[in-house]
Amino acid sequence: MSAAATNQVIKYTWKDVNSSMDSMRVMFDLVRLVDAEECREVFVTDSGELTFGRECYAVWNSDHRCVNCTSYKACHTHQKKSRVEYFDGKSYQIQSVPIELTLKDNTDYSCNMELITFTELVPGIQTQQEKDELETSGYISTHDNLTGVLNWDGFCKRARSLLSEYHDDYVIVSVDIDNFRFVNSLFGNSTGNEVLIGISGILNDMCDEKSTFGRCGGVNFAICKYLDCDMEKWIDEITNKISSLIDVPTFQLSTHFGLFKVENRNLPISIMYDRSYMALEDVRLNNSKVFGWFNDSLMQKALHEQRVISDFKANLTSGQFVIYLQPQVDKEGKIEGAECLVRWILPDGKVLPPFEFIEILEQSNLIGSLDHYVWELAAKQLSAWKGTVYEDLYLSVNVSPKDFYHFDIASVFPELCKKYDINPGKLHVEITETAIADEMQNNMVTLEKLQEAGFIVEIDDFGKGSSSLGLLKDLKADVLKIDMRFIQKSENDKRSNVILESVIDMAKRLNMEVISEGVETQDQLNNLTNLGCEIFQGFYFSKPIPVAAFEKLAADSII
Ligand code: C2E
Ligand code: MG
Ligand code: MG
Repeated sequence: MSAAATNQVIKYTWKDVNSSMDSMRVMFDLVRLVDAEECREVFVTDSGELTFGRECYAVWNSDHRCVNCTSYKACHTHQKKSRVEYFDGKSYQIQSVPIELTLKDNTDYSCNMELITFTELVPGIQTQQEKDELETSGYISTHDNLTGVLNWDGFCKRARSLLSEYHDDYVIVSVDIDNFRFVNSLFGNSTGNEVLIGISGILNDMCDEKSTFGRCGGVNFAICKYLDCDMEKWIDEITNKISSLIDVPTFQLSTHFGLFKVENRNLPISIMYDRSYMALEDVRLNNSKVFGWFNDSLMQKALHEQRVISDFKANLTSGQFVIYLQPQVDKEGKIEGAECLVRWILPDGKVLPPFEFIEILEQSNLIGSLDHYVWELAAKQLSAWKGTVYEDLYLSVNVSPKDFYHFDIASVFPELCKKYDINPGKLHVEITETAIADEMQNNMVTLEKLQEAGFIVEIDDFGKGSSSLGLLKDLKADVLKIDMRFIQKSENDKRSNVILESVIDMAKRLNMEVISEGVETQDQLNNLTNLGCEIFQGFYFSKPIPVAAFEKLAADSII
């Protein structure tokens, strides 16, 4: 058993959880595991299977989730929570401890361990009004405000009841509308709401009494379907009905479905749904079909992702993550600074490039901890260079879109500079167009604050996204980093070269410096120099290299 450093989640394997709970029973009246989503007790059998027991609140003789469910909060905030419930002549002191169980097939499963003590009830604590409020909140906690259908919690509970009641074949289906964001912008929010209500109506018609569905948030719906028909036809019918909700020839709602066949009923509904959603994402990427089934290769992919996540959590601060530096040079070949690019050095010496883990960390909301670690490595390096021949060099670091949600970027960077006593002008901040475009207004304010504090803000991968030019209208960045695809294409393509020339010219007129990424050949360098670009980065000069190798290169360039 080991406690993770960044949150209060305790890890158990299916083998050790029961004995740990036994040892805690000396101190508490009741120790149990609870699935927060399904609101239900869960047990780990001696052979490592999960089985589901009473609904969680059955202990309090209530028929719905408690108003202030601490299990739910603990599970989602990764923090321990405690509360008191009053029922049936007793008061219950409940501590909800978030835990992560590694199941027999190596799947990680998040639930809570509840530690409960009983004491005497304070008389008269529950008035009729309080009871009524609880009834209402029970409905609210299981139903979606807009459509009135089950929400995620309500769906999990109902799906579990169906799986316990009927022993037929079932499938968990996830449904997502890809281009829904255009509905709001093209037709207005009220049409968007009508479409969501319409979809709920369609799913309601398509589900018999042995099936259920719910809205999991946004435009995601989950269905627990009794498997009694040809799924392809059933999905076709839903797709056609959904696309007829907007009767405009130029616009069609595009729906995708992921299917997970329930073979092991003892899996938590949340895991079944995640698997169906993986199938959905997979089919959406391949773009050729509307629906796909979860299969073995997706299972392998999920396990790989889980291994990456748990190795990352265990090793972030153990020295396995380092920065490689890729020089940025001027047209005379003098090194001006470098971009910090993270590498994961495995214990066997293998060097993992970012594409092997960045996306997984982004999807699992862990990218913030990696990025902050990298920013700190960069700040430490700049501090170590003070008073040396490298003093004038700058370092630029990458900020991923999700960092804006995790951190107050405008204060994190100044704090780092203060901590390591470095000049903000030496720390450049690279942000991709998509990061800015996602939350244009807020993120622009953040970037302006950084600039006011003396940081250099760079737009990374310019030309890769779809909003490039529009973005420049509003965003006053200091540097434009032109994406390498742009440069490589312009080599053999006259039209691309004209665009490249205009972009460089425009950036200069907007008082922005231009860095060309991905320079690989002398011809590309000559062409870019003729077009007016002044700073270059690319394999032609150097690949990203360890700090010591970079220092050697830079020393030669400086002297
Ligand atoms: P990026 O920020 O656009 O970084 C430039 C990428 O282009 C680097 O790949 C670099 O090795 C590669 N590159 C540079 N010159 C050339 C060239 O001449 N030819 C070719 N073919 N490639 C070149 P790398 O190091 O694999 O990083 C890939 C991406 O991973 C980065 O793209 C960045 O988006 C992300 N990344 C790297 N480190 C971090 C990090 O610490 N945090 C975050 N959030 N993302 C990072
Ligand atoms: Mg970059
Ligand atoms: Mg780039």
